[in-house]
Amino acid sequence: MTLYWAVVFTLLGMALGSFFNVLADRLPAGKSIIRPASHCPACGVKLSVPDLVPVVSYLALKGRCRYCHAAIPRRMLMVELATGIMFLLLYLFYGLSPELGIALLYFSLLLLIFIIDLEQQLILNVIIYPSALAVLLINLIWPDTGITHGFLNGLAGGGAGLLLFLLIVIASRGGMGLGDVKMAGLMGLILGFPGIFVGIFLAVVSGGLVAGIILMLKRKSKRDPIPFGPFLSLGTMAAILWGQPIMDWYLGFFGF
Ligand SMILES: [Zn+2]
Repeated sequence: MTLYWAVVFTLLGMALGSFFNVLADRLPAGKSIIRPASHCPACGVKLSVPDLVPVVSYLALKGRCRYCHAAIPRRMLMVELATGIMFLLLYLFYGLSPELGIALLYFSLLLLIFIIDLEQQLILNVIIYPSALAVLLINLIWPDTGITHGFLNGLAGGGAGLLLFLLIVIASRGGMGLGDVKMAGLMGLILGFPGIFVGIFLAVVSGGLVAGIILMLKRKSKRDPIPFGPFLSLGTMAAILWGQPIMDWYLGFFGF
């Protein structure tokens, strides 16, 4: 059965990844996510069913539009593959359980935030607010699973995230935006208290490392801001999976 479900979750992930591509294209532009149907951005031809099969159609068409042969952005393939792999790994991590359902939802939202902030340097209210509402509801309905930490605990984590990032934004004077503050609030709702600190710690460390490497390679100048949202997303994902062991390991240093 494991193999069967592994295939099911991989395919489900690739199909949803295809939908996330549509969201990542249309939400920042304020376009409807339902109409018009998927079409080639270059020639405008409406895509038919064989053009829409995730991963397979991209590879079969060698990354080009069937009709006008314009290049299809590689991100389409990357997101479909990444979502498929993410769903597979989450299934292997959680097994068939309520936690798996919650994890699939959280990771999907975090991935979407990751893509849009990476491409547009935007963390959209239209994603953050409904996500926060969904997490609040989940915390209320399933307060005590391996992945949730209770309603009040979520509020405490959210408040801590908001406050900490508000201070950072004030201190950094434009290095970070209000989108990052709202994102930190969402992280806290998800990770609870003190889990929020693990998420932020991982985001700061990974963000600092990557920023250092990019500066060394001189791919960007110091004036070119590197969006922080993708690291907040990754830090949240890692903290969902390994927050407790990381906290135990860290506190172990101080003999707790
Ligand atoms: Zn075309």
